[in-house]
Amino acid sequence: MKYKAYYRPQSVPETVELLASLEGPVVLFAGGTDILIYAREDDRYADSSIVNIFGLPELQGITLLDDEIRIGAGVTHTEIEQSPIIQKYAKVLADACRTIGSLQIRDHATIAGNICNASPAADSLAALAILDAKIEYLHEGKPCELPLVDLIAKPYKTVLTDRDLVTCIRIRRLPEGTQTVFYKLGRRKALAISRMTIALLAHRAADGTVDDFNITVGATFPKPYTFPEINGILLGKKPDPARIAEIAQAISAKIPEIAGIRKSTTFKQPVCRNMTARLLNELFTEA
Ligand SMILES: Cc1cc2nc3c(=O)[nH]c(=O)nc-3n(C[C@H](O)[C@H](O)[C@H](O)COP(=O)(O)OP(=O)(O)OC[C@H]3O[C@@H](n4cnc5c(N)ncnc54)[C@H](O)[C@@H]3O)c2cc1C
Repeated sequence: MKYKAYYRPQSVPETVELLASLEGPVVLFAGGTDILIYAREDDRYADSSIVNIFGLPELQGITLLDDEIRIGAGVTHTEIEQSPIIQKYAKVLADACRTIGSLQIRDHATIAGNICNASPAADSLAALAILDAKIEYLHEGKPCELPLVDLIAKPYKTVLTDRDLVTCIRIRRLPEGTQTVFYKLGRRKALAISRMTIALLAHRAADGTVDDFNITVGATFPKPYTFPEINGILLGKKPDPARIAEIAQAISAKIPEIAGIRKSTTFKQPVCRNMTARLLNELFTEA
């Protein structure tokens, strides 16, 4: 990998100071599992200063807050997958991270790297979107925050500058009894780039009405989206086959609406409609 200079700061304050002092393009290097693939393709980092932030102590840890969970930017997919906090209060994210790459990749690749690389096929994004993820970052040393859906602008592009350091991600802490599903469709079972993901969460009140519902589709749109109007089809109502079919139809109709009609649309639209209906039917029948 060709680069101009390489730095390994030991803390976030040291990183902020370093970033302010550097001239020219900067690349924040976490697990490196995306960056090293790009570096193999060409010399795009030849003029860049590489700042290795992997393992910075302030970017570690998963903490349970009152209504939220705080995940350090440098937490790996393996740590998320194995976290008792995530498994109990945001299982959909553990299930999503478990599908990423191989064990070796998950041991090293970080959640902020998955977000900031902004690949439309990134597997954590649909789960993070339905958990209302908010991204905290330092811009010129000042704390800022954006919802995930606003942080990612388009494929492989966030609104962050090359010197903005993501410090943590906050997600909803789901109430007990919330059911979640993460489904990944790839060309094979392991080490597969997603063709489509579906993430959903649902909670039912004692009388059977749905009082919390959020569903989205990943690896399908240019960036993560949530659909409050589609969630509204079930909210406050009892799930039945007609409402489930309506949701499946509505979410699959978003594919041409948002992504335009492409070669893959004829494949993705029916898969999305049928899988959504199947997952919701299974979920509500099991419950
Ligand atoms: C063999 C292989 C299989 C893979 N399989 C999958 C898969 O199944 N699903 C999937 O979603 N991904 C997959 N990936 C992609 C990759 O592993 C993930 O996107 C990973 O989460 C990236 O994290 P990282 O820490 O390695 O990021 P890096 O490569 O270090 O960085 C990626 C980008 O994020 C930026 N960045 C990282 N941390 C921060 C921060 N704290 N603040 C600001 N910017 C930051 C970097 O500057 C860079 O632009 C795979 C990769 C490989 C090589």
